[in-house]
Amino acid sequence: LKKIGVMTSGGDAPGMNAAVRAVVRACSYYEITPCAIYSGYQGLIDGKIEEMGPRSVANILSQGGTVLKSARCMEFRTEEGRRKAYEQFMAAGLGALIVIGGDGSFTGARLFQKEFGIPVVGIPGTIDNDIFGTDFTIGYDTALNTVVDAVDKIRDTASSHDRLFFIEVMGRDAGFIALNSGIATGVEQILIPEINKPVEQLIDRIRQSGRAGKGSSMIMVAEGDKSGSNIYQLADKVQEQLPEYDIKVTVLGHIQRGGRPSCSDRVLASRLGVAAVKSLKDGISGVMVGVRKGEVALTPLEEAIKQHNEIDPLLLEVAEITSI
Ligand code: ATP
Repeated sequence: LKKIGVMTSGGDAPGMNAAVRAVVRACSYYEITPCAIYSGYQGLIDGKIEEMGPRSVANILSQGGTVLKSARCMEFRTEEGRRKAYEQFMAAGLGALIVIGGDGSFTGARLFQKEFGIPVVGIPGTIDNDIFGTDFTIGYDTALNTVVDAVDKIRDTASSHDRLFFIEVMGRDAGFIALNSGIATGVEQILIPEINKPVEQLIDRIRQSGRAGKGSSMIMVAEGDKSGSNIYQLADKVQEQLPEYDIKVTVLGHIQRGGRPSCSDRVLASRLGVAAVKSLKDGISGVMVGVRKGEVALTPLEEAIKQHNEIDPLLLEVAEITSI
């Protein structure tokens, strides 16, 4: 194995740079030439491939975003697109591919290995923490801390005016950010896509909170929650039933993806970057590197794609108990 290509793909996440740096340096350490592939699969199709060395990743460890750029690429979903990518891959003399991204990116990587016999390894980089085979994904810890910081600020203004705030956080299919940041900020209710909570039940709980003497209330809503067709409609429905409340909606949006990666994300990304290169060097591919119970663990890409991490019912209970 002489040359390894590395790319970031799908939604960006803080800590992706730390993973790129670790991959590049581990390659150099093992005397393999690392190559950057820019803008995900699109860059591979377009041949945007460049040799790197340990110095080319200086000072990116602490930067948010991804210096390799990320993209969503429709063409790679087609056989013809993947063939073009394969031709560029071979022309650049690459022997293996490391993809830092989410399950969509891994689906593409798996097809690439299946169709052309290219060894691939995935590194989970997404703020959603929804990938099976790892307890944590790169970017999740930083995103949680960003949310906690923002919600603490909203709490200050909510309690000054006795308001009811609906706060939307990212998570189209997974409620990990909402549940964990909701517990950390002491919100009154947490709505996540995994659990269907009827609006009537939510309204009852808000009334109960009022009776229990709570002036302000905050409801954390994951963007994939199905209680309303969106958070504004949900807030409207509640406002109709509770006209006495001063209701506000805040959508945290893309600030959740940005910022300097936390210490945990930097360490996780460094561990997984090194593990990905080691795995390829040892002849193991078609896997995702992750961390399970504190140890680096390899999971076949197929399993990582098919399955999903489940919400811990004990955490739901903690949220319930601590918000009375
Ligand atoms: P995030 O979880 O942050 O959304 P992701 O990796 O799941 O990240 P996607 O947009 O789903 O993000 O996938 C990234 C890219 O992977 C796509 O733009 C596409 O190029 C490739 N990809 C996704 N699904 C497939 C597929 N079924 N076949 C081939 N390529 C795919």
